Amino acid sequence: YTQAKALVFSRFGEPADVLSVHQHSISPSLPDGAVLIRAVAVPVNPADVNTIQGTYGVKPKFSPLLGTAEPSVIPGNEGCFEVLSVGGNVQGLKKGDWVIPATTGFGTLRTHALVEDAEKKLFKVGGEKGKEGLTPLQVATVSVNPCSGYRMLRDYVDLVKLSVDGFAKGTASGGAWFLQNGANSGVGRAAIQLGKLWGLRSINVVRERDTPEKTEELKNELKELGATVVVTETEFLDRSFTQRLKDEWTNGGKDPLMLGLNCVGGKNAAQIVRSLSPKGVMVTYGGMSRQSFPFPTGPQIFKRLRFEGFWLSEWGKENPEEKKRMINEILDMMREGKFKAAPAQEVTWNWDTEEKVLKDAVQGTLEGFRSGKGVFVF
Ligand code: NDP
Repeated sequence: YTQAKALVFSRFGEPADVLSVHQHSISPSLPDGAVLIRAVAVPVNPADVNTIQGTYGVKPKFSPLLGTAEPSVIPGNEGCFEVLSVGGNVQGLKKGDWVIPATTGFGTLRTHALVEDAEKKLFKVGGEKGKEGLTPLQVATVSVNPCSGYRMLRDYVDLVKLSVDGFAKGTASGGAWFLQNGANSGVGRAAIQLGKLWGLRSINVVRERDTPEKTEELKNELKELGATVVVTETEFLDRSFTQRLKDEWTNGGKDPLMLGLNCVGGKNAAQIVRSLSPKGVMVTYGGMSRQSFPFPTGPQIFKRLRFEGFWLSEWGKENPEEKKRMINEILDMMREGKFKAAPAQEVTWNWDTEEKVLKDAVQGTLEGFRSGKGVFVF
């Protein structure tokens, strides 16, 4: 028998209050089609905390199947797992392979899982190439943040075509622009790097750090990743910003700003609306400030703006094959050293790790001003 542990919750609330560790054992005789996996690295994303709080777009079903005193749920949507053993009829997976959950809602905050119908529910990392040249952190964080950045840069405005057309007409002074707040988030860092690889230019908004030196350090870090311009929230929200946008970066407004990515909401979102060029699109994917924003009537009409919402989970359900292809493409970029995983704060999870350490790591996710995303390593 394999001894396993999982973080579970049986009611919605703050992670520190409602999470607990559930210990169970897994039988060595696997059903046909099933696979036993062990966790290698598992990140905690903001959506995981919102799910535990009960504020996320989809509410999980509490299940009696885990054997907990009350029906419960294991949170977590992504992670890097290693195949330990496979049941009969499993063709495409073998011991030692690395796998990631094929869809969100898997429940990844656990040491082991027995996965039935495994070839549907798990995605083998790297296809033929397997895990070679990849780190657990890269694999554990590939399926949510980089995929979101990828889709939002590709699916709303054809920025690549806009760049090419601009160059062809001789009007563009560089690649097409996009603007994003929350630029040092996992998604933001992914968009910076993909944008750079695709020849786009980006304006990136970050919050000030507690000293000017640290702010400068963060700006430089993002520029090294491929950001064209990095401004602080204060610079962005200042009345001078739209004029600076024209004068300093967009060739007097001739290079249009057609895409804004909104991770934050509130005033930050309203300023994106002011900055977009006519017929531009703002894509909202997060609400880190927990503030909504007014949809201003004037710009909607007179600039004919579009407002879209992005949700990776639903996109993935609608496009399962493209999701696999995209993940392998991004993993290839990582292998080739063209794409860096976001910084992580690693938390070791071994058999003796205290429950409080695990719960605190989840609770810390929404704190802000962190040095990296919390990632459990096993
Ligand atoms: P990370 O954990 O990597 O980063 C969090 C980011 O939020 C940091 O940039 C942080 O900035 C910023 N932040 C935290 N608090 C605030 C605040 N009060 N005001 C402004 N910014 C703040 O996040 P992810 O990249 O994993 O996720 C970012 C957002 O995107 C989340 O809201 C998440 O739910 C959402 N998301 C949505 C998806 C979708 O399908 N819609 C898919 C993936 C993510 P700082 O360093 O200054 O604290």
